[in-house]
Amino acid sequence: MAKLYFRYGAMNSGKSTALLQAAYNYEERGQHVLLAKPAIDSKGEAAIVSRLGVSRPVDFTIAPDEDVLAAFMTHREQVIRETGSDVACLLLDEVQFLGEQQIDDLLRIAIDEDVPVLAYGIRTDFQTIAFPGSRRLLEIAHSLEELKTICRCGRKAIFNARTVGGAFVFDGDQVAIDGVDVTYESLCGACYLEESGGVLNRGWRPKYDFSYRSGPDTDFS
Ligand SMILES: [Zn+2]
Repeated sequence: MAKLYFRYGAMNSGKSTALLQAAYNYEERGQHVLLAKPAIDSKGEAAIVSRLGVSRPVDFTIAPDEDVLAAFMTHREQVIRETGSDVACLLLDEVQFLGEQQIDDLLRIAIDEDVPVLAYGIRTDFQTIAFPGSRRLLEIAHSLEELKTICRCGRKAIFNARTVGGAFVFDGDQVAIDGVDVTYESLCGACYLEESGGVLNRGWRPKYDFSYRSGPDTDFS
């Protein structure tokens, strides 16, 4: 049975480079792979772009709420038609931008379709909160592997701090693709706390309705 792998790391941990290397390793053995990424990620259009300068177009992009299993099957059938052999692996970049249902589809592809799925992405946003897709992967992936990168102080970086116009910001929307004004710096926990003034998850809001907790039976005050 194939497995779902979540390979996560802070920004600049070489995820896209590792993905392209993994794809190359399959193809070197004469096997066929499919590359995909969420459509929300505007960086590099419909390509996977490594900071080392290597880039490669994806086979398909995934729109919000799109059925990932159906999209995979369409492209898988095309590979079988054109090459006479099955897809050896599905590789996805920027998986933090996929929805929870779409991550569930990745598990179905691995288990039901018996095709390994390598999912690369960032664990948490600039406020140290897990992206919904990443949280789901942490819950259901067969294998978790951290890709490491170094903070400016030399420790392992685990957070992605956002800067706008060169200054750190700790409020704003969860998704802001880096570009002209917005950039990110991978920081260790100590440097993040130093920059944020000691605050973690400043943007946290309850996702669920906790009102059921009120009432005589659950009043712990
Ligand atoms: Zn540091």
